[in-house]
Amino acid sequence: MTQLADSGIGDLRRTFEGPVLGPDDTEYDDARRLWNAAIDRRPAVIARCRSAADVSRAVLFARAHGLEIAVRGGAHNPGGSSSVDDGLMIDLSLMDDVTVDPAAKLARVGGGALLSKLDAAAQEHGLATPAGMVSHTGVGGLTLGGGMGWLTRKFGLSIDNLESVQIVTADGQLRRAAEDENPDLFWAVRGGGGNFGVVTEFEFRLHEVAPMVSFGLAFWELDQGTDVLRMAREVMAKLPEELNIVVAAVNAPPAPFVPAEYHFRPGYALIVVGFGTAEEHARTMAEIRSTLPPLFEFESPMPYVALQQLLDEANGWGMHAYDKGFYLDEFTDDAIEVITAQVPLKQSPGSVALFYRLDNGYSAVADDATAFSGSRAPGWAGFIVAVCPVPELLEHDRAWVRSFWDAMVPVSRGQGMYVNAISDLDVDDRVRASYGPKYDRLAAIKTTYDPDNIFHRNANIKPA
Ligand code: FAD
Repeated sequence: MTQLADSGIGDLRRTFEGPVLGPDDTEYDDARRLWNAAIDRRPAVIARCRSAADVSRAVLFARAHGLEIAVRGGAHNPGGSSSVDDGLMIDLSLMDDVTVDPAAKLARVGGGALLSKLDAAAQEHGLATPAGMVSHTGVGGLTLGGGMGWLTRKFGLSIDNLESVQIVTADGQLRRAAEDENPDLFWAVRGGGGNFGVVTEFEFRLHEVAPMVSFGLAFWELDQGTDVLRMAREVMAKLPEELNIVVAAVNAPPAPFVPAEYHFRPGYALIVVGFGTAEEHARTMAEIRSTLPPLFEFESPMPYVALQQLLDEANGWGMHAYDKGFYLDEFTDDAIEVITAQVPLKQSPGSVALFYRLDNGYSAVADDATAFSGSRAPGWAGFIVAVCPVPELLEHDRAWVRSFWDAMVPVSRGQGMYVNAISDLDVDDRVRASYGPKYDRLAAIKTTYDPDNIFHRNANIKPA
């Protein structure tokens, strides 16, 4: 394969607007790096696209030379699906323009943009759309899998706010997909991941989001897990619509708002974010405080863009990671028993179990309106993530993630998960379980747009 690529790489360079890199180029090692340091792959060619025409050229070149394709947006996929040994990496990171039309409340976002660029451009006009909680994540991979974050309780997933996409399909054609054009393809890209082509531009609806939001974090000792999770259940049942909560089993970060004696202390945190009045947020924080006095807490107004960047450093590039997800209807006593037994068994201080709340705006969308890999019933998306500063710790914590997940299956919604949390690339049964009854429709659409399954480095849907 590499030889084939070498012979043709000059041809590709001549027609390409962006740089085309091979292993001998000085920028090659930087360009092939991924967020997860545990993944080290060496593509034969890295095609750094500048336009939809470049993407099309790269797809056709890979097909002509029999090269396996990987598509790179923000490079955050935990399984490293965005790179490939000896194949062709379609690198979209130079296609990161964001244009906001404040009157129409729409944003056009390049297929390789990071969340930080979208958040900043929209907030210039007091606008935002739901996205993830770490701003160096790619809009591309995040959105195509669904996209959940602080605004999801209010406005749904990222895909629920998608108006249209421009997408290069397996035949090299650039197509528009929206409700009024290629609606089947539009349905499939809203949750079906990178299976259907390379999205060169996303068009999002934006909402008014005040530049300042209310932030609160309360932290408890590890042995208080049962009480914290029971309290989260109670607080959640009456949480105002303008607020959102993340529950985290986590080590206290060495951040300025954490007293020095608690840095790295393992425990449980409730993070409460408010998009309404400060009083409403303060009332919920007071209720939490009086129900179960925390070890320490922190409360402050902050700009929305600062909220979006708050977890950036703790989730920086260079960690060795492994991820698995599940859905919970509720923190039942059985689920709490499993979680509190498993959390203390991790070794790396960076490894976490996180729970994102899904209801309200999320649940207002019908189950079959998009291809999203999960039910729209109110509940929690759980993530068990090994995050290790050195590779030696990953072996242990990867096994921890797997046995924690196995123990959660009987007390959760089962084997299905948010596909963006799948770290293992060859898990057909897991992908089927995640899409459930939507899988067959996705497979039929895959047959139309990618019958040879050239876009298979993802939570792969096989052509029917
Ligand atoms: P990449 O690795 O570049 O891409 C992943 C896959 O997406 C590629 O293999 C490809 O198949 C596809 N892809 C990417 N861009 C395109 C495109 N333009 N066209 C076609 N296919 C494309 N998810 C959430 O929902 N909410 C969160 O808060 C959240 N936080 C995260 C924090 C961290 C630190 C990490 C590592 C992940 C987080 N995720 C979150 C999961 C994240 O959504 C997935 O890892 C997602 O795949 C990342 O997208 P990317 O573009 O950065 O990744």
